[in-house]
Amino acid sequence: MVKFLRQQMEKAGCPVRDSFFRAVYCPPHRAAQGAFMRGKGVFVCSNYSVLQEQVDRVIIHELIHAFDDCRAKINWNNCAHHACSEIRAGHLSGDCHFKRELLRGFLKLRGQGQECVRRRVMESLSANPNCAGSVAKDSMEAVWDICYNDTKPFDRAP
Ligand SMILES: [Zn+2]
Repeated sequence: MVKFLRQQMEKAGCPVRDSFFRAVYCPPHRAAQGAFMRGKGVFVCSNYSVLQEQVDRVIIHELIHAFDDCRAKINWNNCAHHACSEIRAGHLSGDCHFKRELLRGFLKLRGQGQECVRRRVMESLSANPNCAGSVAKDSMEAVWDICYNDTKPFDRAP
């Protein structure tokens, strides 16, 4: 998936070099295990993401943000823009498949995957001062259908 996303970034006009990825130490109490920063690339918190599987998931999540930033010139200060990319990253990265697997057999709730994405979107938006108060939830709900159903660059959610 990382290779595929790198190819798609290249096609979209934003080639990804090896130096795009960096392992960094992240201070405690951070919600995220990684970050994407325009012009800088993808950072992975090496003190939080230790297993290869975790590192892969963080990189895939952040590459979806990078892809969105490349194709849509996202305004990260706009809570709805940020929410849209978090919905897509949460949905398409498989962040929530893993949890669903774990929960399979314990919980048979319909929509478990979507609930997981919603929770993670809210966690990510809590770090954005432009999403304060009810803005985070309102923004997420406003863009949910469009962004959850937008699976580019995949034909459908992997
Ligand atoms: Zn994110």
